[in-house]
Amino acid sequence: MLINIDLLDRVKIRGHKLVSACPACREGGADQTGTHFFLDTITGKFGCAAHPGDKEHRKRIWALVGIREERPALTRAQRREYAQRKARENALLRQAQSNSARAAACLADIVEEYAWDEYDMWEASPLRLEAPSHDDWKHFLRLWPDTGHNIWIGCVYDTGGEEHHAHFRTKEEWLKLDTPPGHRIAPATFHHGPSRTLDAVATTPFMVVDIDSAIGFKPTKPGDIAANKAAGRALIRWMVEACGLHLLAVLDTGSKGLHAYFQRPPDDQIRAWQSIANSLGIDKGILANHAAPLRLPGCLHEKTALPARLVFLDLNQHTTSQLS
Ligand SMILES: [Zn+2]
Repeated sequence: MLINIDLLDRVKIRGHKLVSACPACREGGADQTGTHFFLDTITGKFGCAAHPGDKEHRKRIWALVGIREERPALTRAQRREYAQRKARENALLRQAQSNSARAAACLADIVEEYAWDEYDMWEASPLRLEAPSHDDWKHFLRLWPDTGHNIWIGCVYDTGGEEHHAHFRTKEEWLKLDTPPGHRIAPATFHHGPSRTLDAVATTPFMVVDIDSAIGFKPTKPGDIAANKAAGRALIRWMVEACGLHLLAVLDTGSKGLHAYFQRPPDDQIRAWQSIANSLGIDKGILANHAAPLRLPGCLHEKTALPARLVFLDLNQHTTSQLS
């Protein structure tokens, strides 16, 4: 059972213990000081200090702030396997959530503990990225799986009309071109054009983390932008080392932040990441918007006129979990 921390009010965190206003008490006008609800972010145990042992009250809390999962109809063997997988995922999620609770309390800890210098990130990249080159968009494109489906590349508005079919091509077709027709790419493959919409999505190989306010706000000054990127690199390293995500690519957007591409975890993990996105300073919407037009390497930023560039690229991922 997982609680959506973003829905709680008056959150206070000490170590792995979280205390906040009890959403069920608040419904009845009680707990104005906001101290009834407690959650152990390691075990996931939660309850209301004013209603110990009250099952209905706990159920109500769950209905208000729990993260729900859909359970498909399965055979007994599948159910067992599903339960085992679930247990593993939940353990990872609790770890992530307990870490994120700490993050919300003190993101500075992560930034300090997991600091990742840009040079070290570049050094750690399995694919050596020398000076930015004209072909970086092709290197990046190789991350998309060889499913034979279409990949969308274009400008933001190259979608919708029949004239936009040319923006949907297979990876093989794109790789034959010298220059892309626009500097945006969607983090998915598509069954068909001409619309870059979620119902045309065929596979979703990635979870994209857009780090735009890891310092607690959207930076505008150069010093803050550098600090946001440094915090972002630490966050990425923490997501890999503490949360077990597989990092595929990091793109410096040429403006305020970073885009980190991770191998796509299961849906409920993505939902859990969405539930803690705000406290981590990452964009909640992009986490699961596989049809979003994201920057390609070389894409010039509208405001800074600086190009987006690849900082890290790992092309060694190939698992069946890419298909969904
Ligand atoms: Zn209560």
